[in-house]
Amino acid sequence: MPPTKGPPDAARLDRIVAEARRAREEREKGYREQALRVLPWVCGRCARAFDRANVHLLTVHHKDHNHHHNPADGSNWELLCVYCHEDEHARELNAAGRDPGPPGGDGIEPATHRPFADLAALLKNRK
Ligand SMILES: [Zn+2]
Ligand SMILES: [Zn+2]
Repeated sequence: MPPTKGPPDAARLDRIVAEARRAREEREKGYREQALRVLPWVCGRCARAFDRANVHLLTVHHKDHNHHHNPADGSNWELLCVYCHEDEHARELNAAGRDPGPPGGDGIEPATHRPFADLAALLKNRK
């Protein structure tokens, strides 16, 4: 490591990190406000409607998952409530880590993976 001259690098790094963070926060605030301006305050999944009192529970999801892709017409944004947003991303993780199963039998399979669903069915069948 070369000896450092002048102000310690850590301070400089801190400043760079702080600036980057501030820029990111501003950008995020920017697209959220924009999204709330151009899109109806309704969750895209559960259709729950929001108003000024609870709009903080409404989040901006990026359809292509690229947070830097923020077209002004809102075409890459989807407003989701925090619950559906979490579910949306959890689903991706599940889908990525699992093989596609056999084609569904009855077509009423729950959308989310529930490890104990089979157990519940077994218990039900035992009666
Ligand atoms: Zn929702
Ligand atoms: Zn998202």
